[in-house]
Amino acid sequence: MTAAETRTEQRRTDRDPGRGPTRRNFLQLAAGATAGTVITRYASDIAHALERTTAGDMEVVWLQGQSCSGCTISVLQGQYPTLEETLREFRLDVTFHPTIMPEQGDAAIDAMSAAPDVLIVEGSVPTEIPSAATVGRTADGGSKSVYDWVQELAPESEYVIGLGNCASFGGWPAAENKERLYDLGSNVTGAKGLQFEQQDQPGVLGPDFTSGVGLPVINLGGCPPHPDYLLLTIATVLNGHVPELDEYNRPKPFYEPLVHDNCPLRGYFDRGEFAEKPGGEGCLIKQGCAGPYTHCDDQSRLWNDGTSVCLNVGAPCIGCMEPGFWDRFQPFDAEVERQSFAGPITPEQAGWIGLAGAGIGIGAHVARKLTGYGSFENDEDSIGSGESAETDGKERSE
Ligand code: SF4
Ligand code: SF4
Repeated sequence: MTAAETRTEQRRTDRDPGRGPTRRNFLQLAAGATAGTVITRYASDIAHALERTTAGDMEVVWLQGQSCSGCTISVLQGQYPTLEETLREFRLDVTFHPTIMPEQGDAAIDAMSAAPDVLIVEGSVPTEIPSAATVGRTADGGSKSVYDWVQELAPESEYVIGLGNCASFGGWPAAENKERLYDLGSNVTGAKGLQFEQQDQPGVLGPDFTSGVGLPVINLGGCPPHPDYLLLTIATVLNGHVPELDEYNRPKPFYEPLVHDNCPLRGYFDRGEFAEKPGGEGCLIKQGCAGPYTHCDDQSRLWNDGTSVCLNVGAPCIGCMEPGFWDRFQPFDAEVERQSFAGPITPEQAGWIGLAGAGIGIGAHVARKLTGYGSFENDEDSIGSGESAETDGKERSE
């Protein structure tokens, strides 16, 4: 039996209920949870799940492609105090992280597992100019591209995680460069995500790729993603649970809520009151807010130790959790081009009618009544996937 087969067999044993540590599905627990709830309440369980990696029976490799390292910084800023320790242990257990590991050169590459249990990729993968992102050297002394590393390691990995919008969908390195800055064209390096190129497949691994456990790449979109997303996803899969994924292979508990549905400024939108400048009073839709098209639970999870999120401090959502970010929502200070208007009238579309109506003296509440807003059942064609603003029973501050 090879080392990889031995590890797989061990994982099967570990997943056998009653034979191992707590088998909590942290993603399920995280659905709808407020800031820090799951992390703090289940800290010891999460630590227990991650201990299995630090005990040496799980190996994690963390590659950085075309990355600003912001995803790493985000994770390191997580409020869970032992995450940094965990990452440190990953490194001690023959894994690889180019930003935080102290080893350099050949010693660092030698420490990298050839068949990791979890492969985390941060940053996009350049395909037209592979030398735009390299790690270590090939046998003949040339630079080894991240593209080659991904092709080599991903099929050998039990789980593959695309951390951040770049690794998931291409991110800003794949942007169109509409301003033609530096006289460069669109996405000159051919940047792609692991399994997506913007909103479409395939990325560099192709649409049919599945990792050792039979899952596609688990995408944790965001620029950067919330630190809880990585911690809870890893803790969940290492507990043997299969995360439920959306159409972009993002874990649903994190990426199902619509920013627009939970926005503290939603009352303004519903009344057709729109800020005329950044920081002004009102809904920020005319200032470029992409909240009606952006899915994540940040409005309840909050950032910075559970204190705030973009819209709480007067900054429009720029859609960084979504495939197609950056081109899809920029310029970020101008009203986003309307999207998803096909199909039946949804609560969100009724709000848009209210927005248009505000210009000709029709209040948003009138428009909503005319279109059945407030009694409309959420349906699969809606751009929103959670409960509507008026059916979730929550009061929104204004
Ligand atoms: S997703 Fe954002 S934070 Fe992460 S590497 Fe890309 S640009 Fe940096
Ligand atoms: S458009 Fe933006 S600012 Fe306005 S309610 Fe929706 S998410 Fe909030």
